[in-house]
Amino acid sequence: MAAADGPLRFATPQPLDHDELSAGARTAPRPSRLGEPLPRTSKRTAAALESLGIGSLGDLLEHLPFRHEDRREARPIASLAPGEQATVIADVRRIARRRTRGRVSLVEATVVDDGGTMKAVWFNQPWVADKLPSGTRVVLHGRADTRRRNSFVVSTYEVAPGVTAEDVGAEGLTPIYPATEGVTSDRLRELVKRARPLERESVEALPALMRASQGLPERAAALDAVHFPEDELETELARRRLAFEELLVLELEYLARRHAREESLAAAELPATDALVREWVKSLPFRLTRDQQRAAADIDADLASGRPMQRLLMGEVGSGKTVVALHAMLRARENDRQAALMAPTETLAEQHLGTLDRLLGGHLPIALLTSSTPPARRRDVLARLDSGELGMVVGTHALIEESVEFRDLALVVVDEQHRFGVRQRSALEDKAPPGLSPHVLHLTATPIPRTFRLMRYGDLDCTVLRGLPAGRRPVDTHVVDGARGRERAYERAREEIAAGRQVFVVCPLVEESDTLQARAATAEAERLARTDFRQQRVELIHGQMAARRKAEAMRAFASGEADVLVATSVIEVGIDVPNATVMLVESAERYGVSQLHQLRGRVGRGEHAGLCILFGDPSLPRLRALAEESDGFKLAEVDLAIRGAGEVLGTRQHGERELRVARLPDDIPLLERAHELAEGILVQDPHLEEPEHALLDAVRAARFGTRAERIAA
Ligand code: ADP
Ligand code: MG
Repeated sequence: MAAADGPLRFATPQPLDHDELSAGARTAPRPSRLGEPLPRTSKRTAAALESLGIGSLGDLLEHLPFRHEDRREARPIASLAPGEQATVIADVRRIARRRTRGRVSLVEATVVDDGGTMKAVWFNQPWVADKLPSGTRVVLHGRADTRRRNSFVVSTYEVAPGVTAEDVGAEGLTPIYPATEGVTSDRLRELVKRARPLERESVEALPALMRASQGLPERAAALDAVHFPEDELETELARRRLAFEELLVLELEYLARRHAREESLAAAELPATDALVREWVKSLPFRLTRDQQRAAADIDADLASGRPMQRLLMGEVGSGKTVVALHAMLRARENDRQAALMAPTETLAEQHLGTLDRLLGGHLPIALLTSSTPPARRRDVLARLDSGELGMVVGTHALIEESVEFRDLALVVVDEQHRFGVRQRSALEDKAPPGLSPHVLHLTATPIPRTFRLMRYGDLDCTVLRGLPAGRRPVDTHVVDGARGRERAYERAREEIAAGRQVFVVCPLVEESDTLQARAATAEAERLARTDFRQQRVELIHGQMAARRKAEAMRAFASGEADVLVATSVIEVGIDVPNATVMLVESAERYGVSQLHQLRGRVGRGEHAGLCILFGDPSLPRLRALAEESDGFKLAEVDLAIRGAGEVLGTRQHGERELRVARLPDDIPLLERAHELAEGILVQDPHLEEPEHALLDAVRAARFGTRAERIAA
């Protein structure tokens, strides 16, 4: 398609359009065909499109290519270099199918142009042989084989009677789309081409003034250029335009949520009476660190404000978050209100209970509620929560069940909050008395750099515990492979045990199957008990053991009866055994950076220095980073750069909508700019009611719901 036929294009930032400015923006999205379902597709295609998240014409246009193939010119066969990607126009001479010894089906054709001959190869498309009889003129896209001379591996082809090099030149940069079974990239391209005229109906949400000041093209032009650009620069500018809008809408939503909370939601006022807290702080066997004091002061201010706290408390494993959380829980108790702490696993909930109990010196009642709580005990806990007799509870998802009622829940602490979905968190928040929102403290041991917070937790206030409590030292970390290294690692572990310390062995993560993982851990425990730790007492803990047996293994290890605890990743967070000094991690490459950092945070928690041995390939950048860097924040940035935000923050596992266009960390500068502009907009126009913001608000509402829904939520 020639450029002139296409919708508006841009090459440089658009000049300011004064007519549009003086006319003001449109006040409501016009009815648009973009919302309509795709016309005329087979059931199979429709289902495939559905699985790609494409239900409407608008979705189709927003399904962006992940790269472009250069089809700007056709190349003579004689000029192709090995490995080169190219488009070739040729005539088919001979064609045949065969199978390789590895039983791969091949079609091979001899094809010729004016100056050369080569062998064109199709993999796994036997039907091609019937479609291209001798004499057919074809346009082939693909790559010249690197090993076999004069061989060309075809990725796509078209039958094109009479076509010449000039005709092909017009095709330009060809978008390659994320495809799936049942709908190919080529098919998607056809569909997008047909829908192309509708780009003009795309809602231009960005005010003209902002587009001008930021040098951003119009949405319709960007949408077109992102699919069918003149050159690589154009497609990137277009993508950034769309990414910027996506991020701006996200930031507006976060900031507006915070605003709505501050404006319209009430929470119990929990002023610091110090009836409990002052004495409790004095009773602790240590002094709160400066960061802990600051965090406690931030939280005290939130709790006294009458507005619901939504605060993220970030700090590495061992930085003392639990102590700060308990500080807040006791403020609720001072005001005769209830507090609940929710943890992602039973093991963690049990650990928390133990820690809190110890920190409380057994003076105040606190109960555990998980799905393994025996029925009689459970009835008792529920009754006492309902009556208000029980002031504090620690639990798992079991806390959010409908049957759990509180008399006066005022504070919710969510541990490792990224492991819960939004719905689970809000289900617990719903248990506050009618008309009141609880104060919520989110804990996380995964340090999240500021920019990612903007993206994911833009509606939360944030406090960071930076330093480790006095006396804690970084854990000496080594990456080890080979039999000799392993032998030395076990030797070091035995030395530590001989000196009275204890050892964790963490088994490989098997994401696909808890059963396999449990089996592997069991086998490893048996192996170690027979071989390297023959003289030592080895205990086993994994996710599939009965709660009773888990508790028994934990008790044996915590009390020092067992020397070695072989575990699956269940010990990743929370387990606190100050006497453990060695952490051995099998197949360390299966774990993420922050997981490994958390794992090693399990050792060296007491007076003795910790040692962490990662069994894995020492040349892997991730593992090297761990050996070299002890600062969790710096590691988190390495991790984000390597894996991308969705993985690290666990957004995928909760099925939350991913960013469609923006890519992080590449688009961090865009995110920063969007955040700033969103703040500016909301200062002037807190409810996005001005005409020039109406469309922005409409786009926001289409993605996140209306303001009324937000307030109700
Ligand atoms: P986190 O929840 O951040 O992993 P915890 O609150 O569980 O950390 O604290 C880790 C350990 O450090 C606990 O044994 C706790 O008693 C201890 N601890 C917490 N704060 C301090 C402090 N200020 N000084 C010394 N030890 C502390
Ligand atoms: Mg903790």
